Amino acid sequence: MSKLNIVLFGPPGAGKGTQSEFLIKKYDLVHLSTGDLLRAETKAETELGIQAKELMDRGDLVADHIVIGMIRNKMEANLKAKGFIFDGFPRTRAQAEALDEMLEVKEEPITAMLSLEVAEEELVRRLLGRGATSGRVDDKDEAVIRNRIRTYEKDTAPLKEYYTSQGKYKAIDGIGSVAEITDRLVKAIA
Ligand code: AMP
Repeated sequence: MSKLNIVLFGPPGAGKGTQSEFLIKKYDLVHLSTGDLLRAETKAETELGIQAKELMDRGDLVADHIVIGMIRNKMEANLKAKGFIFDGFPRTRAQAEALDEMLEVKEEPITAMLSLEVAEEELVRRLLGRGATSGRVDDKDEAVIRNRIRTYEKDTAPLKEYYTSQGKYKAIDGIGSVAEITDRLVKAIA
């Protein structure tokens, strides 16, 4: 059976992490979140983590080769996986191309790119709400949140065209209850 490789796409606060949890259970997939991997490095105070933290706290992107290397390692460590959910990756065209190359070698291409669509004011509201409990520096300050959304629009949103040209882009309404949105994603995967 061919593997299910899903790019869960969308701006910060769109619900990628929450929805990933449901999808990995339902389809028995491995969750690859570059944000989570970077935060683990930061917590462990590795050299990479210390360098990345400054960028993350400002809402700027970490260098492509760093996140590509992390994804490559995790994919190699999970060769028997039934598939992957890529959450927060790719965020640039170079990352998307590197991902396609890695998957091409294995002949396990991306199945679909599911894009959670949520308007900016709702994103800001959600992220400020999350900041009260998440302990994430980048969720606390509205200026940082807006910088993350600008970065998304400038560097990341253009990937919709990249995946459209491959016939893989599917827009998903990201407003509603968690269960309603999971339902929309499952229908889009089927
Ligand atoms: P996230 O948890 O996906 O919201 O990511 C938190 C922060 O980690 C981002 O604002 C970036 O600074 C960094 N980051 C996560 N994923 C990537 C990526 N694919 N490329 C570059 N930076 C990333």
